[in-house]
Amino acid sequence: MDDLLIIGAGPIGIACGIEAKKNNLKYTIIDKGCLVNSLYNYPLNMTFFSTSDRLEIGEIPFISNNSKPTRLEALEYYRRVCSHWKLNIKLYEKVISITKEKNFKIITDKTTYKTKNIVIATGFYDIPFLLNVPGENLEKVYHYYSEPHPFYGMNIAIVGSANSAVDAALETYRKGAKSVTMIIRENEIGDNVKYWVRPDIINRIKEGSIPAFFNSEIIEIKKESIIIKTNNKNKELKNDFVLAMTGYQPNFKLLDEIGVSFEKDKYRTPRYNSKTMESNIKGAYLAGVVCGGYKTNKWFIENSREHAPLIMNSIKKNK
Ligand SMILES: Cc1cc2nc3c(=O)[nH]c(=O)nc-3n(C[C@H](O)[C@H](O)[C@H](O)COP(=O)(O)OP(=O)(O)OC[C@H]3O[C@@H](n4cnc5c(N)ncnc54)[C@H](O)[C@@H]3O)c2cc1C
Repeated sequence: MDDLLIIGAGPIGIACGIEAKKNNLKYTIIDKGCLVNSLYNYPLNMTFFSTSDRLEIGEIPFISNNSKPTRLEALEYYRRVCSHWKLNIKLYEKVISITKEKNFKIITDKTTYKTKNIVIATGFYDIPFLLNVPGENLEKVYHYYSEPHPFYGMNIAIVGSANSAVDAALETYRKGAKSVTMIIRENEIGDNVKYWVRPDIINRIKEGSIPAFFNSEIIEIKKESIIIKTNNKNKELKNDFVLAMTGYQPNFKLLDEIGVSFEKDKYRTPRYNSKTMESNIKGAYLAGVVCGGYKTNKWFIENSREHAPLIMNSIKKNK
């Protein structure tokens, strides 16, 4: 039986695998998709806000062409890290349920595992926050943005004002969308938007090349238009595509199933010991962005790489 099973082969799940290997612990990493599945699904032309050295794991240098690496460079880097460390990773295998008796029993869509410890490093990128408006299920509505080409010559609406909304607005505007309109619930562009991008979007809005409706929301999506509520009035806009960039949420199902408890805050922050990352359930550890609950910008690669050694020290000590 393995000492531990790591769910999620994102950067932090991989970092945990490396630490397990360094500590001679018997481990398996499982991911429902490809290696670093979340990063693979990020916008094709995205650039990280972190410099490449801050995304490094396993003492492998990350050299990129510019100080901030691109998605492609990151994919290359994490592939190289896994090959170097010869990690035991099973891809395209989804964890369906976890139960705990003496040990943990993990059922995947392929097989069943038993292990003494589990590390849940499942990230936050699998479940989008929905708009919950009529028409959201139309094919023209996307909750993930990949690249600008499909929107050439089209009227598009972007819902949201955080980084992904702003990046999608600027890119589609510059790659020939006929019109790009932003529908924003707040009264300004989010202050978490990358500091080198924020002035760009603010100026495009000011000059009218990307019209933005602030304090507004989309209330209905039709085949050829959308209805928004702005200044307490409904307004219909011609529309071909809606990019709902309204954020993503972690999947709490596995945490609930094993009985992990949560803080009584609005973020549903899971409870864990910050020195070991162990939850209230003995042997169930949390790592990476999932530790922040709904506050998905609290933990990222840069600041959660450190979860891996904390977890492995604790598992080794308890062995
Ligand atoms: C556009 C964008 C830009 C970003 N830029 C930066 C940056 O510059 N710097 C930075 O530090 N962070 C950045 N982040 C945040 C960063 O990518 C995440 O914080 C990071 O991916 C978290 O790593 P993780 O390993 O915790 O989770 P993830 O990378 O999300 O990995 C979780 C993995 O778990 C798998 N999984 C989920 N459920 C199951 C299941 N049931 N069974 C099996 N596998 C499962 C998923 O397929 C996934 O591969 C950015 C995020 C976005 C969206």
